[in-house]
Amino acid sequence: MTHEIAVIPGDGIGQEVTPAAVEVLEAIETVDFEFTEADAGDAVKAETGEALPQETRDLAADADATLFGAAGETAADVILPLRQVVGSFANIRPAVAYPGLDALQPDTDLVFIRENTEGVYKGIESEITDGVTTCTRVITEEASEKIAEFGFDYAKQNGYDVTIAHKANVMRTTDGLFLDTAEAVGQDRGAEYDTALMDALAMHLVQRPEEYGVVICPNLAGDMLSDLAAGIVGGLGLLPSANVGEENALFEPVHGSAPDIAGEGVANPSAMILSAAMMLDHFGYDEEGDRVRAAVESVLESGPRTPDLGGDASTDAVTAAVVDEL
Ligand code: ATP
Repeated sequence: MTHEIAVIPGDGIGQEVTPAAVEVLEAIETVDFEFTEADAGDAVKAETGEALPQETRDLAADADATLFGAAGETAADVILPLRQVVGSFANIRPAVAYPGLDALQPDTDLVFIRENTEGVYKGIESEITDGVTTCTRVITEEASEKIAEFGFDYAKQNGYDVTIAHKANVMRTTDGLFLDTAEAVGQDRGAEYDTALMDALAMHLVQRPEEYGVVICPNLAGDMLSDLAAGIVGGLGLLPSANVGEENALFEPVHGSAPDIAGEGVANPSAMILSAAMMLDHFGYDEEGDRVRAAVESVLESGPRTPDLGGDASTDAVTAAVVDEL
């Protein structure tokens, strides 16, 4: 069976790390992919006036899955609609400390299960009058229930404890609903779980991440807590993610377009390659997904390494080492 994959490298280092993931997937002989590339982001906007051309939307909608690199200034106009196009409601962001790397906390093995459709990312903002602005935060029972069910299932399948992150003491109505709904899902299943205020949780994740596993979060909290976790495991170049819907899915690194290093050929391709491994899992190729993770892990441990991890290797050299390892 051939899986049709939309490949959208986007801007900045997206152009460098996305081909690395494709190269690794092409090296797996037991799985057949057909890759079709499309444009999105700042560069195509400058050319055509549109950051997310209709043909790119259509390609992602019709593909079996999408690999997305990064978008620059136009990120909100690209990735938010793309997540909708593939119908994703859950953003899975694992943050793992790999052996041999100088992680702040070497015992970190976290998975953020981030609600992916609402919260402040609805983009409902207004300027009431000069100097006064508002943002409407949307939390629904339906979306909260869906992400909590997904999070509890994921934790059970993968052997993690569950923590529900919230700020219901301040956002009493919106996070009150999120918390009550997620707790009800846990109780219905007879599952064990903890709840944590997201600000205190940020501190505890830095101090003792080994006490946590799956963290079920509202949208913005999931974005921020997973970047924080990137910091404790060794940087954004290491964190993959999956945006999962009922039928379709999109895989992307947690990092952005990194304009400070774009074009230099030194971006760490690990996050993007690990996102491709999540795509293999998604299609049921667990063994192949594990092989890719093991290859990345081995290269992270013994090198070559890109400059963000203290090495001086190029993106291409690290990618070649991962392919060799496979
Ligand atoms: P966004 O708003 O799109 O999430 P951002 O402002 O968080 O983007 P990133 O583009 O993710 O910024 O980059 C943040 C920092 O991390 C930069 O210094 C960048 O160079 C570094 N960085 C991000 N990804 C990588 C990578 N793959 N390899 C090396 N360094 C990276």
